[in-house]
Amino acid sequence: MRKTLLITGASAGIGAATALKAASAGYDLALNYHSNPAGAKAIAAAATDAGARVILCPGDVATPEGIADIYARVDDGFGRLDGLVNNAGVVDMIAKVTDFTHARLRRMFDINVIGAMLIAKEAVLRMQAQGSGGVIVNVSSAAARLGSANTFVDYAASKAAIDTFTKGLSDEVAPDGIRVNAVRPGIIETDIHAKAGAAERVGLITPSIPLRRSGHADEVADAILYLLSDQASYITGTTLDITGGR
Ligand code: NAP
Repeated sequence: MRKTLLITGASAGIGAATALKAASAGYDLALNYHSNPAGAKAIAAAATDAGARVILCPGDVATPEGIADIYARVDDGFGRLDGLVNNAGVVDMIAKVTDFTHARLRRMFDINVIGAMLIAKEAVLRMQAQGSGGVIVNVSSAAARLGSANTFVDYAASKAAIDTFTKGLSDEVAPDGIRVNAVRPGIIETDIHAKAGAAERVGLITPSIPLRRSGHADEVADAILYLLSDQASYITGTTLDITGGR
């Protein structure tokens, strides 16, 4: 039987790459997006061509209503959930801490932290009710340990929260056979940098990366697929750096 997998933020970048690899690996997919239906539909079509049953789950992970909408589609469409890739996330424009506003921090933490925690909560409730375990992969960032001074300290702190959440949740649900891990990508070539008005940042940071190149969304997706798989059956509560050594 094909396993069912919810991927948040599947309309672009790392979430989209994960969806395509998961379809080929035999998962049926619930694909969440927020503002980019065209991107999500294109990924859904490609995943369907690769053999997956796909449902689209529009919704803003930053709101309780959005999360309810997402899970209503999952419940109606699949009636069960075997895995979650908690990927939706944002950065903001480059700024120093002295320029931060309450509105900026509210948005960042509503999406990256509170949204991710409540999306995971709803996945766990379903996995516990099913009684056959499950797998969650949270998408953190190397920023969690680098701190991102002078650029995105708020983003880095939001991802540090995800690292701590990953460890704590994994301990809580391990007795239920549910594994919870995180990936910590470094500089990956997606549109997230341009959305932060910092497309040139990828090239500027590349010389400081030991492997001397940025990463590709596919390389993060491969690590996520591994952590989802039975090959990672004894791995829980950990974070995996995908950073080219940075
Ligand atoms: P991306 O190309 O900008 O994609 C972000 C995805 O998140 C989009 O599908 C977007 O959906 C979704 N999203 C944003 N806000 C949302 C919301 N409120 N509700 C639901 N979905 C929302 O970025 P990416 O680089 O693939 O990033 C994916 C994850 O990797 C993020 O958590 C990011 O922090 C993390 N990461 C990225 C890098 C990197 O260098 N690229 C490095 C470390 C960590 P819509 O467009 O449909 O709104």
